[in-house]
Amino acid sequence: MGYIEGLPGDQMLLLPASVDDYVSAENPARFIATFVGELDLGELGFGRARPKSTARPGYDPADLLKLYLYAYLNRVLSSRCLAAEAGRNLEVMWLLGGLQPDFRTIADFRRVNVGAFKPLFRSFVLLCRRLDLFGRELVAVDGTRLKAVNSRRRNFTRQKLARWITIADERIEEYLTRLDRADQAETKAEGAIARAAVLTAKIARMRERRLRHSAMLAELMASGESQKSLTDPDARGMAMHPKVGVGYNAQIAVDARNKLIVEQQVTNAGNDLALLAQTAGAARELLGVERIAAVVDKGYYKGEDIAACETVGVIPYVARPERGPAIDQGYFGKDAFPYDAAQDCYTCPARQRLDPFSRLEKGGHCTIRYGNRQACRDCTLKPQCTSGTARTINRWEGEAVLDRMADRLATRPDILDRRRETVEHPFGSIKQWMNQGAFLTRGLASVNAEFSLTSIAYNLRRAITILGIPAMLQAMQT
Ligand code: SF4
Repeated sequence: MGYIEGLPGDQMLLLPASVDDYVSAENPARFIATFVGELDLGELGFGRARPKSTARPGYDPADLLKLYLYAYLNRVLSSRCLAAEAGRNLEVMWLLGGLQPDFRTIADFRRVNVGAFKPLFRSFVLLCRRLDLFGRELVAVDGTRLKAVNSRRRNFTRQKLARWITIADERIEEYLTRLDRADQAETKAEGAIARAAVLTAKIARMRERRLRHSAMLAELMASGESQKSLTDPDARGMAMHPKVGVGYNAQIAVDARNKLIVEQQVTNAGNDLALLAQTAGAARELLGVERIAAVVDKGYYKGEDIAACETVGVIPYVARPERGPAIDQGYFGKDAFPYDAAQDCYTCPARQRLDPFSRLEKGGHCTIRYGNRQACRDCTLKPQCTSGTARTINRWEGEAVLDRMADRLATRPDILDRRRETVEHPFGSIKQWMNQGAFLTRGLASVNAEFSLTSIAYNLRRAITILGIPAMLQAMQT
């Protein structure tokens, strides 16, 4: 028995197939074409949304946008690969009507329209809202570090520069001593002359490097910045699993019902401490609800940010991290000291009352200290409480907001597990399936555009899985 045979390349077809026949009703390209067709690209911020009446006609931004959405959905991220796809991929040919823009045109489109991709992402979120894909009750916010186009060798902190300058000084000193010794030698053998030349060259190189590092350090001191990246100036050194790398901090707010991303942004902040209110607040606005619960991990525990959540309609759930010198040394944690708001005092494990005795204001943050020296003096629990003469408890002036949150958490202990299962899906998909562990572009604006495209592709893939293309197309027409 033989094999199923295809047609030879030179076979003439009596009834030529249309390209449309190759794009099935379930093909995501059909959705992309309809979705882009409904957008007002000018309003979103895309350039050349209206054709010019003079000069050579350019590509319609709608065509290039379709190409990008198709590319991110299919994990084709380089502009050269995209240009190749336009000439050989039937789905892309159908989508672009046979147009074949070159790789520069494709790359330039993303570069000149960096500001339009976030509004585009939001348009898709609004469409998902129309399709009733959001629960609109709970969002989980989390961040991940994605590598930038900048190696660690080309990232400098003030400490690193100061260390290198010291090393350069020591080396120059050492080379000069060796050079002096070579000069003082009475007989100048050929080898000694060559060594002296090598040392002179090394000293010149070291001086030049020292000069460069000194200039960078002076620049950092003058600007107030803590670090400088040479390839991508906006990238920052930050903790990345398993070690420190140079990159960006990508934040997402994910709706708990279908694990769709509602809001996303990329920053170069090294930690998540001030990012909850702005991310969850923007998500609440997009979901069109008055209030929404937001759950995050301990890395977001910052009093001022948690207080800001309440002002933007977000009900925060953040577990209190166990940190501080008392915990480090194995003494009673703050949880062992219940606070009485009516009496404004703490009760310690020895059932003694700790009253406020001092205030400390620093950088707009006011801390009140509570203690009871007399009770601590003869206390039998002191070895478990403090190594000093008396134990004190610090309370932030606005800590009532943290107490309210602790009470809420006590009534919903399962909510912290929901955080993990909600945010791990998008981050896992983005890093593994979409292979987006690193950015391809440079600069904060560009990486934001890149991440917006990645997030749209993730959401689109989820929506297709949940509803299917025909249902999505039908819902868009109603
Ligand atoms: S050492 Fe002071 S604060 Fe600690 S348990 Fe004893 S009395 Fe209370």
